[in-house]
Amino acid sequence: MSKPEDTTIGFLGLGHMGGPMAANLAAAKYQVLAFDPVPEAQDQARRDGLTVVATAPEAVAEADIVITMLPNGRIVLEVYREILAAAKPGTLFIDSSTIDVADSVAAAELAVTQGHRALDAPVSGGVTGAAAGTLTFMVGGAEADFAQALPLLEVMGRQVVHCGGPGVGQAAKICNNMLLGISMIGLSEAIVLGEKLGLAHDKFFDVVSTASGQSWALTTNCPVPGPVPTSPANNDYKPGFATALMTKDLNLAANALRDNGVQGRIGQLAADIYNDFNQVGSSTDFSAVITDIRKRSEKEQA
Ligand code: NAD
Repeated sequence: MSKPEDTTIGFLGLGHMGGPMAANLAAAKYQVLAFDPVPEAQDQARRDGLTVVATAPEAVAEADIVITMLPNGRIVLEVYREILAAAKPGTLFIDSSTIDVADSVAAAELAVTQGHRALDAPVSGGVTGAAAGTLTFMVGGAEADFAQALPLLEVMGRQVVHCGGPGVGQAAKICNNMLLGISMIGLSEAIVLGEKLGLAHDKFFDVVSTASGQSWALTTNCPVPGPVPTSPANNDYKPGFATALMTKDLNLAANALRDNGVQGRIGQLAADIYNDFNQVGSSTDFSAVITDIRKRSEKEQA
């Protein structure tokens, strides 16, 4: 197996997630050529010890592996169209952005058509996980490409799962986050109902956290202050996982439900509820949706 110093990685997208992920690869002695069009992201990347290049094609020309960590599917496809011709034949392209399953499959097809290889490898774990190198990677693509990517994904993450063929990593990501969004809304409605019926938050927690209504949303990200001292509710709903990102993921899930003829009524409703809440609460943790449910319930009773 080749040593990290013998592997050149082109890394595109040095934002909240990509910046620390690329820095972890450089710290593990991979040769990283990094690109982002935003000067602040470039400056931070230099401070993190990365070699920053002036254009996207320069980042990929000598690369064995290219990683993209970009805002959305439109930009991923634009960037792929810009860089694929500049890369060496057979380069492995790994897209870790959270994007539409259909865009993910289209990006992989573009890469393969131009003689390259491709994986989708979206992540969960947020900015903290990116900095600590403890992300979970959900990977779609061929077994041999997964095997080549594994050592460097393990530098950036703690859990790496090969989920299936092209786009199936993205599928795992949106299925999980759709369930999380639904679960947070359901939990919040139950807590607000409990409030109306005189059930104190700590008693709700003591019962439900050990009963069949238990969930990650309750035991780790509890939407009311008190029962879980580390949850964002104790810190004025500072994220955490921002409402804007949850809304994005629920819209991706709603698209996938529609595209695949799945009768996902609750998934669609969760997307609608977060689209509404995102108008006022985009920068708060997604658990702040409880404040909106409470406010609407007060109006209802008035
Ligand atoms: P971000 O907006 O902080 O970073 C995106 C970066 O991409 C920016 O620095 C931007 O300048 C750069 N970029 C835009 N166009 C580019 C181009 N043409 N070439 C190179 N770089 C370009 O976003 P983020 O929070 O780092 O998220 C990145 C991806 O990861 C998104 O798809 C997001 O949904 C996903 N994600 C984010 C989190 C999170 O907690 N932030 C968690 C899991 C997954």
